[in-house]
Amino acid sequence: MGKLKVVIDRIICEGIGPCAEETDMIELDKKHKAVFLEPGKDKQQLFKEVEEKKKQVVEIELPIDKEEEIFRAAEACPVDAIFIYDAETGEQLYP
Ligand code: SF4
Repeated sequence: MGKLKVVIDRIICEGIGPCAEETDMIELDKKHKAVFLEPGKDKQQLFKEVEEKKKQVVEIELPIDKEEEIFRAAEACPVDAIFIYDAETGEQLYP
């Protein structure tokens, strides 16, 4: 699909967690907020970086199976805290 922009809204996120069951790319931090684990970044460093942010925004190109996973994770979120956009066109793909 090309590059995706994944936005996790940490205000909306209620830390319920089904997103993290769908993919190993998302884990909950100590505030029970979902964090997208950016490849190549140290997890603890990343948790610290996003801790005070309202949103975590990641632009990433993923293999198709991982792309499907992130959509499943977004769909699993009961409060729609995970937004997915086409990074090139800005089109909102989910929700
Ligand atoms: S499923 Fe939604 S509310 Fe629950 S941790 Fe994931 S993003 Fe947050």
